[in-house]
Amino acid sequence: MFLDLPADTLYPADHLPWGLGKPRGAVRQRPLVRVGDFAVDLAVLASTGYFDVAAKHALTQDVLNDLMELGPLAWDAVRAEIARFLSGSDDRDDVRSRAVHPLADVSLCLPAHIGDYTDFYSSREHATNVGTMFRGADNALMPNWLHLPVGYHGRASSVVVSGHDVRRPMGQIKPPDGPPVFAPSKELDVEIEMGAFVGPGNALGHPVAADEAERHVFGLCLVNDWSARDVQRWEYVPLGPFLAKNFLTTVSPWIVSLASLEGARCEAPVQDPAPLPYLAEAHRRGFDIELIGSIQTATMDAPAAIIRTNTRFLYWTLAQQIAHHTMNGCNLRPGDLLASGTISGPDPGSEGSLLELAWKGTRPVELPSGETRIWLEDGDTFTITASATRSDGQKVGFGEVVGTVVSA
Ligand code: CA
Repeated sequence: MFLDLPADTLYPADHLPWGLGKPRGAVRQRPLVRVGDFAVDLAVLASTGYFDVAAKHALTQDVLNDLMELGPLAWDAVRAEIARFLSGSDDRDDVRSRAVHPLADVSLCLPAHIGDYTDFYSSREHATNVGTMFRGADNALMPNWLHLPVGYHGRASSVVVSGHDVRRPMGQIKPPDGPPVFAPSKELDVEIEMGAFVGPGNALGHPVAADEAERHVFGLCLVNDWSARDVQRWEYVPLGPFLAKNFLTTVSPWIVSLASLEGARCEAPVQDPAPLPYLAEAHRRGFDIELIGSIQTATMDAPAAIIRTNTRFLYWTLAQQIAHHTMNGCNLRPGDLLASGTISGPDPGSEGSLLELAWKGTRPVELPSGETRIWLEDGDTFTITASATRSDGQKVGFGEVVGTVVSA
């Protein structure tokens, strides 16, 4: 390979997360992959003889939706062509100099036009924590929870790429004693989630079988589903989350192919009771991806990791989410975003939200600066990073999703 990468890079040449960005001086954003701390401009490769006709068309668009629609065989072929380019066998300096940019020279964008955004609630530990706090340990899980992957339709228009400020939302909030007031949320929270971008969709009326579902996944990204708990508490009955969630959802700019994660799969948790047949999987596989949530307050010099969790804990797999989402004939489309729901684990410190980590405000989180946090305060920056360790020992990264809270 002609690029010099540090031995410990999380972005080796066979990882190739997809992204979209505008290199310095470019008029339009274009499809990219990341290698080390470089971005490879796929539009340049498409215009210099790489890729077949369909991929060439997809890779010269200003969103990734066309590429997403092509499906796993086409994505594998594009990855193979990128590998050929990176191997240096073509030895074309002119192409290299135009196609490879230091990341610092690229402005990254939201990778797809997101037509629909669905948020699930797939972590048993998260659902149990929240249920225990609000209904008691005996009734922690709702009666439906072990039978179906609970989800709701979120709002696609307010999904943004990492780096966007998080303006503290205004909302209708009901104090314990007295009528509701209109005020800035005082209980601004994070939700650490794994997102999936839909690849090829399914036609309206044609469900996707669980065992076929991963063929409809373009790749995974990180999601922070910012939440206003005080607004949520008052508004969510009986139809679920609304304005407490739709003011902002942030995704990481890089989308990791399932092909790159083949060595980072794990058994998914055993399900008891067994789900209905349409949710049954011949081989239940999850992903072994560690996610770290870090906070940096205005007085801190560096972020402090306060949450460590893992997608391996998710009770409902991505395949089951897709089978459930489509079993009534609902159609998914290329570029749709599916999020796992907050990912919590069984151990202290693996809670994927401040609501759980600080247990409804009863155990404030202590930070290295001596400060404590129950909820996010203005000036706080929250970052999610993630990595997977493949069976060959190679660690691969997901980039980051970061946002700083600004006042209402
Ligand atoms: Ca959520």
